[in-house]
Amino acid sequence: MVRALLALFLLVMPHLAFAADLSLRPVKVADGVYAVIGALEGQTYENDGLNANLGFVIGGDGVLVINTGPSTRVATALHRAIRAVTDKPVKWVVNTNSQNHYWLGNAYFQRQGAQLYAHKEAVRLMRELGTGQLEDNRNRLKERAAGTTLVFPSNEVDKAHRIDLGDWAAELRHFAPAHTAGDLVVWLPSAGVLFSGDIIYVDRMLAVIPISSTTGWIEAFDAAISLSPKVIVPGHGKLTDIAKAKRETRDYLVLLRESARKAVDNLADLNDFVNKLDQSKFKHLANFEELARRNANMTYVEMMKEAF
Ligand SMILES: [Zn+2]
Repeated sequence: MVRALLALFLLVMPHLAFAADLSLRPVKVADGVYAVIGALEGQTYENDGLNANLGFVIGGDGVLVINTGPSTRVATALHRAIRAVTDKPVKWVVNTNSQNHYWLGNAYFQRQGAQLYAHKEAVRLMRELGTGQLEDNRNRLKERAAGTTLVFPSNEVDKAHRIDLGDWAAELRHFAPAHTAGDLVVWLPSAGVLFSGDIIYVDRMLAVIPISSTTGWIEAFDAAISLSPKVIVPGHGKLTDIAKAKRETRDYLVLLRESARKAVDNLADLNDFVNKLDQSKFKHLANFEELARRNANMTYVEMMKEAF
């Protein structure tokens, strides 16, 4: 009998685990401002693909959501977390870039009646890459991707846009192509809080990807920092300040660029450069092993394009 019950339990248990609701624990950043800090490692089934930061801001007229996660499941969990703090409706959503973990939860919030915003280049990339992103996510998240569909933001932002939340405002800004072509930050001047999107990474190694521009990235970083935020919610990593953001994002980008520039000027071989570049100053950051060499490679290729 006991054995039969155990067998039944083992049969049912995985399904119970799948059905279990995802519960997110937002951290309070300032009055009315919350962030959900994602995992530092890559996207996995276990972490629900939630390896980037989300947030929400409560205004007099409604709630602004910053990034919707990689699935309807994560978006639904985010909404549950919002409801635990306020019963105001979610009226606005901003996707800080076109990467899957920032916008594939859009369909859920559109159904709640929210207006969706992203940079115009981000919307272009979403249209270009969305189908592939959705397919990758279905492979990775299996049944946890259920119900996830593509919904593109209909409000395209160019340089700046202001959203009036009722008693205060959120400013959306685009400075330059950086981690992607369409990075936006969300600046809350009256709270001194900056949601930097992927212009700032801390605690983990940033990723230079084929569509990144390290030139624009440093320019965007400096422009974002010139707002003098008291608290930064980075794209990846815990809440941070300007000093740590400089050490873990800007200093690293400068190392990559200066050494890649030298290598290209000296006609150094790509593999030699990647193998010999000393990145040990950043070894404490998560994902160092996976990303250090790839970042050097990407930056070299970018410097090559700039030089010729
Ligand atoms: Zn990201």
